[in-house]
Amino acid sequence: MVAVPIGHLEDITLRALRTLREATVIACEDTRRTSQLLELLGVARPRLVAFHEHNEEAKTPLVIEVLESGRDVALVSDAGTPTISDPGYPLLKAAVTGGYTVVPIPGPCAAITALSASGLPTDRFRFVGFPPAKLEARRRFLEELSGATETLILYVGPHDLDDILALASEVFGPSRPAVVARELTKMYEEFRRDTLLALSTSPGKNRGEIVLLIGGRESDEAPTEDDLQKIAQTIIDEGFGGARAAKELTRRTGANRDEAYRAILRLRAGEHETD
Ligand code: SAM
Repeated sequence: MVAVPIGHLEDITLRALRTLREATVIACEDTRRTSQLLELLGVARPRLVAFHEHNEEAKTPLVIEVLESGRDVALVSDAGTPTISDPGYPLLKAAVTGGYTVVPIPGPCAAITALSASGLPTDRFRFVGFPPAKLEARRRFLEELSGATETLILYVGPHDLDDILALASEVFGPSRPAVVARELTKMYEEFRRDTLLALSTSPGKNRGEIVLLIGGRESDEAPTEDDLQKIAQTIIDEGFGGARAAKELTRRTGANRDEAYRAILRLRAGEHETD
């Protein structure tokens, strides 16, 4: 499992270079991109096998055969650490299950790179990858995280940033601190550190690659009535009823049991009034 740079070529490690030189086969997401990278790094072109999300299930047995014959396979993705929001997990699982030796060659990962300079608490964090593309699923995804007390780390496509910041400001509250980390290790590296509201209302440059970090809920930060009602409604719409709805509301928001029960009851009472 060989990590490669997320922008700056000098971030390749000596061990990654040696491993890439010595591997019999390099399984990579995109053979063209990896060839370019290897050329820049001065690694003579070894055997590359395309291994991406559309063929990884089918190709896994072939790669396992190479391991079975006693030869080494290096797995790389286009950038960063393989399998982190990138292909390779089925192969990793098959290799571990098959008893082959799996060696991590550590190096860049955008999530950790962003966290390390964000200024948000680093002692506890949760990496959640890319939010879903569909709006409703995206809202639910954020709502499920709204009670988290640890720093949240998201990968965000440049075209989705404004929308996700606006939604996050609604769900987590406008004053929650957040950081937009853009183009890490590259020429136009930028960190925007502010509240979710300020970030969502002051347009910045959204081009390039982006990691969004959201500060966790402070333990004494009570969820607002409005937040509870909104999230309770989503939970009921999802089919949760009575005690299960209250329990789910507690889990998602960090509200205590009584608050959650009261929010569900108020919502139910409101529904009856409008019947
Ligand atoms: N495996 C990679 C890793 O270890 O970070 C992540 C691959 S994922 C397909 C690509 C996403 O990672 C981008 O959309 C962006 O959210 C984040 N990313 C990758 N490189 C980045 C960089 N140089 N600056 C900011 N974010 C980056």
